[in-house]
Amino acid sequence: MVLADLGRRINAAMADMTRSNVVDEKALDSMLKEICMALLESDVNVKLVSTLRGNIKKKINLKDQAPGVNRRRLVQKTVFDELCALVDCQPENGDAPAFKPKKGRSNVIMFVGLQGAGKTTSCTKLALWYQRRGFKVGLVCADTFRAGAFDQLKQNATKAKVPYYGSYTETDPVAVAAAGVARFKSEKFDIIIVDTSGRHRQEQELFAEMVQISQAVKPDQTIMVLDASIGQAAESQSKAFKESSDFGAIILTKMDGHAKGGGAISAVAATRTPIVFVGTGEHIHDLEPFTPTQFISKLLGMGDIRGLVDHVKHMNLDQKETMKHIEQGIFTIRDLRDQMSNIMKMGPLSKMAGMIPGMSQLMGEVGEEESGKRLKRMMYIMDSMTEKELDSDGKVFVSEPTRLTRVAKGSGTTVREVEEVLSQQRTMARMVKQVGGKKPPRPKMKRLR
Ligand code: GDP
Repeated sequence: MVLADLGRRINAAMADMTRSNVVDEKALDSMLKEICMALLESDVNVKLVSTLRGNIKKKINLKDQAPGVNRRRLVQKTVFDELCALVDCQPENGDAPAFKPKKGRSNVIMFVGLQGAGKTTSCTKLALWYQRRGFKVGLVCADTFRAGAFDQLKQNATKAKVPYYGSYTETDPVAVAAAGVARFKSEKFDIIIVDTSGRHRQEQELFAEMVQISQAVKPDQTIMVLDASIGQAAESQSKAFKESSDFGAIILTKMDGHAKGGGAISAVAATRTPIVFVGTGEHIHDLEPFTPTQFISKLLGMGDIRGLVDHVKHMNLDQKETMKHIEQGIFTIRDLRDQMSNIMKMGPLSKMAGMIPGMSQLMGEVGEEESGKRLKRMMYIMDSMTEKELDSDGKVFVSEPTRLTRVAKGSGTTVREVEEVLSQQRTMARMVKQVGGKKPPRPKMKRLR
């Protein structure tokens, strides 16, 4: 089951529960059964699913709840928290220092993984990610095993405008890696990413090579790249690699459109190895930092305002006043229009839509083409508003409802559609208020009702 479907099924199960007249054991069990089935179909390990179920039942404990407790809220919050725990990959002690490259010194990052996992693609994605954040980044191709590996890295790096190093003649990967890192160090690069070779299977030879390269380049961080489409088998693969190369973090690739993404992510999380990024497509920008709450919020269609803000910030798009507003906890109709127009410029709608609360449900209901059309109609609506209306929080439409009719007429849409735009803006404004003042976002479960 692809992640979007998994999110929809969990949402639907929770919505059924909140719609039922009473929240009793029966309603709770039927919701849990559906959620567990959905997780199992996403290849989440049976034991993990069973733990999640047990934890939810224990925490909710309907029998002992005082009469005043809002049971629906309690159930929603508990499910949300347990789903976050399922993908929480922080080490047991929770305080392992996160890798934070510093400017002004050379930070070496080495990539390891099997062939086809998405190493070369992820190297370039990560290089670009850091480059956009002001780091001077270089890529080294130490894959001398696969014919064409250097060409592939060269092509990707050129597209991303990232300097690269490799050799067509040197066959020793250790020598290439050492020379590349030395070159970029002498040129004072902040981040040097070393792409190593993979094999089809985990072979002794591959592990030996990784150890040698690692000794030669002394990486500050080693990242293992894992293909999420292998589902819960990700656990044994990461363990095998861990035994030979002490990697500190994981990038899970192909989280887009693959049936077993949920299984892979929970399996890796269970090994308590930090997942630092997930790859969500073949495009160079399809790399997202991974944090459990943001991931689950997005999965459940509650949006990921923080992710959206970060993504947009580094796309070098015209941000006008929105960033300033978000920091102040404000979100006007004009902000909604600017963000939507950015989204329309940013490639696949389905990818970005997940970051806007409620948008992925809309996409799920009507599909990419139809939602593209709806998005355009929303833009027409906002384009028909006056400057004052755009800069407002939407309340002017409540105090003067004739504005609704005027805007609907002007944009060739209906009053209902105008109201939907206003409702979207209100949802965003509520979430932005939480993010504003740089407090960590705490998604509200209310959205699921
Ligand atoms: P390597 O052998 O580990 O270096 O793997 P590559 O980087 O060559 O990637 C293998 C294939 O996976 C290529 O076709 C990539 O375009 C594709 N790929 C890599 N990451 C992703 C991802 O996040 N999503 C999707 N859909 N494809 C990916």
